[in-house]
Amino acid sequence: MKALKVDHIGIAVKDLEESIKFYQDILGLELMGTEVVEEQKVRVAFLPVGDTEVELLESTSEDGPIAKFIEKNGEGIQHIAFKVDNIEEAIEYMISKGMRMIDEKPRYGAGGAKIAFVHPKSSNRVLVELSERTE
Ligand code: ZN
Repeated sequence: MKALKVDHIGIAVKDLEESIKFYQDILGLELMGTEVVEEQKVRVAFLPVGDTEVELLESTSEDGPIAKFIEKNGEGIQHIAFKVDNIEEAIEYMISKGMRMIDEKPRYGAGGAKIAFVHPKSSNRVLVELSERTE
């Protein structure tokens, strides 16, 4: 297996609209859209930059993973996503290398991507997302 690129950087924010301003108005990125991912209780904004993207995440619920993250750490980088070409193979490979997976089966993330999270205990306390996109 080989990670193909940094697919996106996930940043936990309290207020999506307020946070978008920095990336749009100051860094000059373009907002490609927003999307609610019910399963993860988040509202997501995508701002591509070069070959990768900034993904801003705002919790839609007080008990969602992003709300909990902010409660514990404050706002900030929450995860880094690497693009892989086959998520099932990537998960199998990670497990064979002794990595602990949060998701042993892929689930659907924003933009219809198939994703799986690696447990931070296996990756220097960085929450790593593996992401396979069809487009
Ligand atoms: Zn992500």
